[in-house]
Amino acid sequence: RCRKIVAVLPIVVAPDPRLKEKSGPVDAVTPQIRKLMDDMLETMYASGGIGLAAVQVVVHKRILVMDTERGSERYGARDEAKSRPLFLVNPEIVETSEDENIYEEGCLSFPGQFAEVVRPRRARVKYLDYDGKEQVMDCDGLLATCVQHEMDHLEGIAFVDHVSSVKRDMILRKMKKAQKRE
Ligand code: ZN
Repeated sequence: RCRKIVAVLPIVVAPDPRLKEKSGPVDAVTPQIRKLMDDMLETMYASGGIGLAAVQVVVHKRILVMDTERGSERYGARDEAKSRPLFLVNPEIVETSEDENIYEEGCLSFPGQFAEVVRPRRARVKYLDYDGKEQVMDCDGLLATCVQHEMDHLEGIAFVDHVSSVKRDMILRKMKKAQKRE
């Protein structure tokens, strides 16, 4: 099999109004959509993340890529052999558990910023996969947190919208300062 030609895309960094726009559904999983997902995965790996939404590369479509198995700078050693990439098109959360989990979350659009976020511990997600086939996935722990974090992006919501206003303001102030420095 040929090695795919992929590109690392620029990631939008907060604060940016484009991150607050809602994403629309994908009509069909075409070769163009697959190419975008390949590029998104490469971009995510290159940045040491575990999830990326298309809105973060300025495509306002309901597309996510994730890999919580390979590890990340935040959540442990990175091991390419453990890669388990997930591609989710038009994802929908159909069920969440009542019990919750706390993770210290980060986001590739908020480099260097982290905050504890409370979310349901488990989530059942319906989506179209890389081949456009309908799938249902039961997520638990970090994967459940990751999928909920990424799905928020599709609604223009970021992890900082789940923390106290004091903490949020602090993070946004740091982000603005970092932007000015550039
Ligand atoms: Zn994010």
